[in-house]
Amino acid sequence: MILVVGGAGYIGSHLVKELAENEEVIVLDNLSTGHREAVDSRAIFVEGDIGNEEVLQMIFKSYPISAVMHFAAYSLVGESVIDPLKYYENNVASTLKLLKAMLNNHVKNFIFSSTAAVYGIPAVEMIDEKTATSPINPYGHSKLLIEQILADFKNAYGLNYIILRYFNAAGAHESAKIGESHNPETHLIPIILQHLLGHRDKVSIFGSDYKTPDGTCIRDYIHVNDLASAHILALKALLAKEKEAEVYNLGNGHGFSVKEVLETCEKVTGLKAKVEMADRRAGDPARLVASSQKIFSELVWEAERNLEQIISDAWEWHRNQLY
Ligand code: UDP
Repeated sequence: MILVVGGAGYIGSHLVKELAENEEVIVLDNLSTGHREAVDSRAIFVEGDIGNEEVLQMIFKSYPISAVMHFAAYSLVGESVIDPLKYYENNVASTLKLLKAMLNNHVKNFIFSSTAAVYGIPAVEMIDEKTATSPINPYGHSKLLIEQILADFKNAYGLNYIILRYFNAAGAHESAKIGESHNPETHLIPIILQHLLGHRDKVSIFGSDYKTPDGTCIRDYIHVNDLASAHILALKALLAKEKEAEVYNLGNGHGFSVKEVLETCEKVTGLKAKVEMADRRAGDPARLVASSQKIFSELVWEAERNLEQIISDAWEWHRNQLY
């Protein structure tokens, strides 16, 4: 049985839906940002916090857990700058409690959701796993701290792990039954689609004077179901003992500017957006694009869904949003 913490959240819920096809799954989520409705009905659901040692102990004693997949983190860069305590408390201190409970119960396989934010402002066009890590905000720091802790726990306690550094997760499940639902929403694609649905009066482009071809920031958007399938491959490799301590980037390998994303949303929906140019958002690097060559060569994974597919799946979800 696999324990998925944060399995009611955006990325976790898509993973759980795919994982539950072949595995028994238990989800632990405090529903602070997740949605109970997003959890696949085949999974056992426990409402609780990863920092609650009693709940963790109950789960590890009651179920034969072979691996833990960890999605239960706060993930907004701007919020992390304003309230770093919230980020270090949950993303670091509570994660330590989770790791301690795993070790106490001899569970030694861990899949960790990390982020492109560990790279800060990279000096290279295509970021690979050897690119220097140098976070520029508490969110990125909180994730990198756990990455370092995992390496130490591998050496000391034999904890096996795979770290997956996501670039820009987007899109929704093809069934349109689950998708992205944040409150408040800060991400580009849902904001554009909510505007096109009439829920916002305009879209603001945060900065048009970056050193990029059209002046707007470039990001690597990856479909949430491509992320999910990478997790399944990583889990298999860990359980088969083919991998013991690895880090992989997860991206599409193609950068799209904010303007290009807007144009693609207009193309997919057939609607025209009202756009305003706004100031830069603090902490935004001009370009973040992944090389996913390592996971392609080692686990034979590559992103299958392009930007149009991401946006059309997200559009189906937002038109009929269930939660
Ligand atoms: N962005 C924007 N307007 C918005 C939201 C986002 O111009 O209303 C830009 C943002 O500055 C960044 C890109 O879109 O350059 C992607 O932002 P998002 O918040 O989706 O993801 P992030 O890269 O911060 O994880």
